[in-house]
Amino acid sequence: MNDWSPESWKTKAHAQEVKYEDTAALDAAVARLRELPPLVTSWEIEKLKGLLADAQLGKRFLLQGGDCAETVADCRSSVIASKLKILLQMSLVLVHGAHKPVIRVGRFAGQYAKPRSKATETKGDVELPSYFGDLVNRPEFTAQARRADPNLLLSGYQHAALTLNFIRSLSAGGFADVHHPEYWDLSFFKTAGVPEALREQYEQTARRLADALRFMEALGERTVEDLTRVDFFTSHEGLNLPYESAQTRTVPQWAGWYDLSTHFPWIGERTRALDGAHVEFFRGLKNPVGVKIGPQASPDEVVRLVETLNPTDEPGKMALITRMGSARVGTALPPIIEAVKRSGRRVLWISDPMHGNTVQTSSGFKTRNFDHVLHEVEQTFEMHDALGTNLGGVHFELTGEDVTECLGGAAGITEKDLDRNYASVCDPRLNYRQALEMSFRIARWMER
Ligand code: PEP
Ligand code: MN
Repeated sequence: MNDWSPESWKTKAHAQEVKYEDTAALDAAVARLRELPPLVTSWEIEKLKGLLADAQLGKRFLLQGGDCAETVADCRSSVIASKLKILLQMSLVLVHGAHKPVIRVGRFAGQYAKPRSKATETKGDVELPSYFGDLVNRPEFTAQARRADPNLLLSGYQHAALTLNFIRSLSAGGFADVHHPEYWDLSFFKTAGVPEALREQYEQTARRLADALRFMEALGERTVEDLTRVDFFTSHEGLNLPYESAQTRTVPQWAGWYDLSTHFPWIGERTRALDGAHVEFFRGLKNPVGVKIGPQASPDEVVRLVETLNPTDEPGKMALITRMGSARVGTALPPIIEAVKRSGRRVLWISDPMHGNTVQTSSGFKTRNFDHVLHEVEQTFEMHDALGTNLGGVHFELTGEDVTECLGGAAGITEKDLDRNYASVCDPRLNYRQALEMSFRIARWMER
């Protein structure tokens, strides 16, 4: 690869760069990260790349989801288990709607670095650095907490490892009961206000899913075993380049470099400059890579990103995660789809219907409306259908907890509910019920 190295990004303009005051401590943390064992392996990454190649061809569908900002404080067994549970339940509902296998990718085990629109935050007459995620600083509004601390790179690595260890154990067989939709709690759909017809549709899907799974189980032991062992892959925004590059290694079995901090990193909307540090770093890796594409991206720029990040047009390598907003997707997305289609390049199209639909309430909460989120996914499906391309996946910010961060859904969260349990340190997530309902709605839509 032309003059690329795991450090060549250092010569490029670096958007969202973290300014560490203590550079000796930064060097020591990076040196330690280089020695620590990798979090994931190259063969898992290659396996995922193969699955993503299938998804590019429409043979599989991808579900990617998790917190906006994962936190060290939430590295707890119950929180991790409920996140896996909702992702698994959603994936089963989507299998039912898509009639194809679903690849499950969490925004977890390393989603600790956040880009911010503003470098500082002001309260009254105090101005402090913004919170950039638990890999960088801490959310409390004090000068001490907001200082960029290189030791948090190691703490992030350690908590990612703890999380992944638990995910691997649970996915090896602890999920059998989740495969029985008859035990899922769907009673919340009975909440006043949910139209009878909609509720009946959800219940019917759950019943049919339960029947299908019982049938599979009746086929024999091997199938049951396959069903109870579920693969989860990890993903996070590859924002903090000292962290990512320290975990980047060559692997004897395969020629080339792998970022072994995660299976599937993505480049954010704010850091995808063609001549910037992030594109430079990710163009040299064998990992599949996603790029977030917002409504300001030009079709030409998107094609050049694809060419730069995947010069050999390798199957399964490149994903475009579009996040336009439900009001803008209709005009912004089609020219991009058309340009990429004309280029003949292989990409996996993923819809992130969260990030273009963020609004601020009068009381100051960042929120998103369930209907806007759903509408963006539906419009994105329609546009790909109309242009002869394939929407191969969806990307959500969600949690398995009963939070009140997004509005709407059958549970009927309104503006006055938001302060009841607004727990996100960054963007608002769909709660358990909203996420499950979203999967029912998408599955119904895919079945049409
Ligand atoms: C995110 O995924 O949390 C995020 C910041 O997204 P984007 O880069 O699309 O704004
Ligand atoms: Mn976010």
